[in-house]
Amino acid sequence: MTAINNTGQITVIVGPMYSGKTTELLTYVEIYKLGNKPYKIFKPVIDDRYAVKEIRSHSGMCEKAIPLDHSQKALEYVSNEKAIFFDEVQFFDEGLSDVAKTLRKKGKDIICAGLDMSFKENPFMTTVKLMGLADKVIKKKAVCHECGEYKGVITYKLSGNESEIDVGGMEKYIAVCMDCYEKFRSKTD
Ligand SMILES: [Zn+2]
Repeated sequence: MTAINNTGQITVIVGPMYSGKTTELLTYVEIYKLGNKPYKIFKPVIDDRYAVKEIRSHSGMCEKAIPLDHSQKALEYVSNEKAIFFDEVQFFDEGLSDVAKTLRKKGKDIICAGLDMSFKENPFMTTVKLMGLADKVIKKKAVCHECGEYKGVITYKLSGNESEIDVGGMEKYIAVCMDCYEKFRSKTD
């Protein structure tokens, strides 16, 4: 009997900003790199916080990445890779889950990272769909910017417009625990 092990695995890393999602993603990249296995990294074009053709963790690790304006385009780049990475998945179209399914059938491991919830406490649908398909979900926490407890699960927007797709850093967003989030929300409502 032949073992059937041709499908890949989908791993999804989620959490608020500053929870180390990209660092975790880059840790996975390292595993394939050390094993001399080919891989590719994709990111959505909307994310222009750092130089366009790379992803960078807050801790300073860095890897080349291909910016995509549509998830389907990833398939055009894929050939003999063992692993395919997607960062900031919340900014991709919802079709990314179908792309992940296609890649998994082709034997690729897919490792995704992204926000699971907006600052309005709404789940990001692209992330949710991937979590539903995943073989493994890693939910990260951040240190709450307000109380200092390691319970930060949501990103809070300090200022600016109400858009949920709005790239920014510490000047615009902080990670907080649910208690502090409720406190902030009741102040602004
Ligand atoms: Zn707190």
